[in-house]
Amino acid sequence: MRILLVNDDGIHAPGLAALKAEMSTMGTVTVSAPDVERSAAGHSITLDKPLRVREVYVGNEFLGYGVDGSPADCVKIGLSEILRGKPDLVLSGVNLGANVGINVLYSGTVAAALEGAILGLTSFAVSLAGSKKPDFAGAAKAASKVVRRLMQMDPPAGSLFNINVPACPPEEIKGVRFARQCTVSYDDGFIMRTDPRGGKYFWMTGELKRQCVEPDTDTALLDAGFVTVTPLQYDLTDRGLLEKAREWKMDV
Ligand code: MN
Repeated sequence: MRILLVNDDGIHAPGLAALKAEMSTMGTVTVSAPDVERSAAGHSITLDKPLRVREVYVGNEFLGYGVDGSPADCVKIGLSEILRGKPDLVLSGVNLGANVGINVLYSGTVAAALEGAILGLTSFAVSLAGSKKPDFAGAAKAASKVVRRLMQMDPPAGSLFNINVPACPPEEIKGVRFARQCTVSYDDGFIMRTDPRGGKYFWMTGELKRQCVEPDTDTALLDAGFVTVTPLQYDLTDRGLLEKAREWKMDV
């Protein structure tokens, strides 16, 4: 089995190393990942500058290809220039920090998997809920079991599964749940500070409106200690509104 591995925390992130080690038991893993952290890069791609691809080694061991672009760039270039052929699946992660709810929209981790899905490949995003001592090896192990099982079910080509692993010790994980994406927004804010030259700058803060989290969603089930799996799609059409809108008289 051929696997393309990408992330948004950067090629040197421990979550990527853990997933590479775990998935190497399943097949040949090729890494194409941003050379620096690109978290919250969303689905951006690079159009205004060339992309450099460098071989990255850890000690004497080849780790993969570091790309000075976004996570989506890494998938595009990984498929067309590095692998030069279709892998069996695209994997993104393990990200440090959950990608549930509307975080999915900002996430470079999810965007990389989405890019794989757009290109017709079965893809998985894997994230570990944030903690002071993240257990990436444990998260990679749990996620690999889920990936294996989902691949056995032979999902349609281009399927995308967003997997989140809770921060608790592996033996305390309550199970796996398929869940829909939570849509609760954040109470965003900015802290204003002054730089050493007297200029003002702003730093985003923000907290999830937890009181609004619905019980059957990825956010709630992850908090409750389950591994959550959410199938995602990139067709953002609001079909209900489309049906209604078609009845509206429009003219130009
Ligand atoms: Mn990240």
